[in-house]
Amino acid sequence: MGKTVSKSASSPPRSADRLSVTEARARIFADVVPVRQVERVAVRDALERVLAEDIVSAFDVPGHTNSAVDGYALAREVLAKAGRKEFSVVGAALAGRPYAGTVARGDCVQIMTGAPIPAGTDTVVLREEVEVRDSTVVIEHDEKRARNVRQAGEDLAKGQVAVTAGKRLMPAELGMLASLGYADVPVYRRARVAFFSTGDELRAVGHRLDTGQIYDSNRYTLNGLLTRLGVEIRDLGVVADEPDAMRRALADAAANADAVITTGGVSVGDADYVKETVAALGDIRFWQVAMRPGRPFVFGKLQDAAFFGLPGNPVAVMVTFYQFVQPALRYLMGETSPPLPPTFRARSINPLKTRIGRTEFIRGILGHDENGELIVRSTGGQGSGILSSMSTGDCFIVLPPESGDTEPGAIVEVQPFYGLM
Ligand code: AMP
Ligand code: MG
Repeated sequence: MGKTVSKSASSPPRSADRLSVTEARARIFADVVPVRQVERVAVRDALERVLAEDIVSAFDVPGHTNSAVDGYALAREVLAKAGRKEFSVVGAALAGRPYAGTVARGDCVQIMTGAPIPAGTDTVVLREEVEVRDSTVVIEHDEKRARNVRQAGEDLAKGQVAVTAGKRLMPAELGMLASLGYADVPVYRRARVAFFSTGDELRAVGHRLDTGQIYDSNRYTLNGLLTRLGVEIRDLGVVADEPDAMRRALADAAANADAVITTGGVSVGDADYVKETVAALGDIRFWQVAMRPGRPFVFGKLQDAAFFGLPGNPVAVMVTFYQFVQPALRYLMGETSPPLPPTFRARSINPLKTRIGRTEFIRGILGHDENGELIVRSTGGQGSGILSSMSTGDCFIVLPPESGDTEPGAIVEVQPFYGLM
C-alpha cells in the first residue's frame, strides 16, 4: 500500500520558492510539539536534562552573612576612626564553627572564609592588612578598604525562583539545586529519536567495499550529534533505495519516536524515495531551503513524530543539523528558549564565493591578527562531501542571501561550531 507520487510532481522549486534559513527554522519551531511527560531524577543524573517545574529557594543562600576572606571581624564604625587603632582578639570563628558571643566595640574576632559574621561586627579586615601583637591587632587604615562580607541570600534569596522550568540543566544549575538541598528534580523525559541512512552505495564499517561503494559515515556523525544532545537514540541502520524498504523503515521509525531523522535520498534523483514516502505516510511541510550546503532538506510529520530528511552529503548533514535539528530537538525536549547558533563578526582574509539568494555556510578557522582583531580564514575546498572541513574548521562563515562574493578584508558573520554540536 501507500500511494506513490510521480517524480514529475516534485520537480525542484525555482529559487524564489525556496525558504530562507530563518523562515525554515520558524516553520519548524511552529510545528514541533514539546515532550510533556515528567520524571524525577537524581541531581547528579540531571545534567543536560530539561527542568519541568520552577525550583524556588526555600531559604537564603548563603544562609547567613559570612566572611569572604581570612581576617578579623570587627565593627566598621570603630574602624572608620582616623589613625592607628587597636582591637583585642576575643575569639575565633571558623566555617561550620561560628563565634557564639556578641563582640563589643573595640574588640575583634579572628575569622576564616565562610564563617558567619559574629554579632556586633559587620566588617572583615584582611589578615595581611593588620599587625598582630599577642592578642591585639593593630590597624592603620580606615574602613574604606574593608568589607569582605557576603550577605545572606545574595546568591539565592528565600522565595525566589532559582531555576526556571524549561531550562536545560548545566553544571552551574546542578550546583545551585544542590545548594538548595535538592536530591532529585523533576525533568521532562528524554526525547526519542530514530534515524537511518539511505543509499544503495552504503556499506557498514567492518565490511569490504566493492567498486562504487562507500562507507556509511553519516550514521556515525549523527550518532555523535544526538548523543551530545542527550536524546534516546534508535539507530535503524542503512535502508536501501527501494520504495518498500523505505516505507517499512519510516513506519517503524515513527512508531515510537518523537523525531525521525534520515540522511540522503531527498534530492530529485531517480533513487531518491524519502520525500515521496514521507508524503504518502505523513505530511511534508516544506522542502528546499535556500542554503548551501543543505538545500535538499525535508521537514515534515510522520504520525506524531517530527521528520527531518537531511541531505546525503556529510557536510550538509552537519550544517542542517546545526541550523535546524539541534534547536528543534532542544525545543522538543522541553527547553523554552533553546539557543540558536551564536554569531559574531570577524574579518575574512580570503575571497569568498556565494550566490545572491542563498545563505552560504563556508567552513572557517578563527584566529587573531597582530592587533588582536578577530579574523577568519577558509578551510579550503568547500565541497559538501568534504567532511574533513568540519574537523579542521571551527566555525561557519555565514554569507547571507543578500551577499555576493566578498573580497579579502570583508567583515563577515561567523558562527562558531567547535564544541557546540
Ligand atoms: P543523496 O542525497 O542520497 O543523493 O546523497 C548525496 C551524496 O551523499 C552522495 O554522494 C552519497 O553517496 C553521499 N552519502 C549519502 N549518504 C551517505 C552516508 N550515510 N555516508 C556518507 N556519504 C553519504
Ligand atoms: Mg542516495
